[in-house]
Amino acid sequence: MVLAELGTSISRALQQMSNATIIDEKVLNECLNEITRALLQADVQFKLVRDMQTNIKKIVNLDDLAAGHNKRRIIQQAIFNELCKMLDPGKPSFTPKKGKPSIVMFVGLQGSGKTTTCTKYAYYHQKKGWKPALVCADTFRAGAFDQLKQNAAKAKIPFYGSYTESDPVKIAVEGVERSKKENCDLIIVDTSGRHKQEAALFEEMRQVSEATKPDLVIFVMDSSIGQAAFDQAQAFKQSVAVGAVIVTKMDGHAKGGGALSAVAATKSPVIFIGTGEHMDDFQVFDVKPFVSRLLG
Ligand code: GDP
Repeated sequence: MVLAELGTSISRALQQMSNATIIDEKVLNECLNEITRALLQADVQFKLVRDMQTNIKKIVNLDDLAAGHNKRRIIQQAIFNELCKMLDPGKPSFTPKKGKPSIVMFVGLQGSGKTTTCTKYAYYHQKKGWKPALVCADTFRAGAFDQLKQNAAKAKIPFYGSYTESDPVKIAVEGVERSKKENCDLIIVDTSGRHKQEAALFEEMRQVSEATKPDLVIFVMDSSIGQAAFDQAQAFKQSVAVGAVIVTKMDGHAKGGGALSAVAATKSPVIFIGTGEHMDDFQVFDVKPFVSRLLG
């Protein structure tokens, strides 16, 4: 189920409730069950959905609502708030400041879109007046450096990497030092991915993080991974201090629910979404407009 379908299903459930002559326990339950089904189909984690349902029922106590109350509005507002709560961990992520060097480390599985996203992130900030630099500390995937180098050159962003050095920690540290000397204020470190979560990857991430002391670690997640999102995001969070999430491939047949699960697992906000393969296919993520669109 793509995001648009999730939105349609939720709006349909709300519409059905609005059409009912009297809003009683049965109508509310039917509406909530419909929304639950839609969220589960969109790959939101089961526990999150169940908690949401319980919270809404607590908020919307039909017996206590006097006759004059607009029950439909109260229910719709509760659903809106609960969806926002799922996507809002309650604290903003670290935001880099122009002119003051910040180090941002990207982590994620191979194929998640990490390298592409590093360049998009750099390009986005460059357009806003930052002076970004890209450091390729991915020594695991053959071709990673060339890919980053090509993307960086296209966007005229300074980059650092090596064809011969196999120690990612060394490259990361040297790249950060060099970028600082060149007065770059947004130093982006692309780290290695693996096909699956494995100890070697997490150990390498920890070492690069310890050596470069990033101001922000961004976890990049492919939106199409479905129900695996929660566990994957949690595994990364347990290894490094993930502070923000970027969800990629939202243009495809993405099951947007993964984004909700990743926020819950990392207690970090989604800050951008990737919506295509090009440098410009990148959008700032705002919770309220996103949920408003979902609810139609
Ligand atoms: P990495 O292994 O995590 O560094 O992944 P890459 O950056 O190499 O991306 C893997 C593939 O996903 C490439 O073909 C990218 O062009 C593609 N990709 C990355 N982000 C997006 C996105 O937002 N939408 C689409 N459609 N493709 C993307």
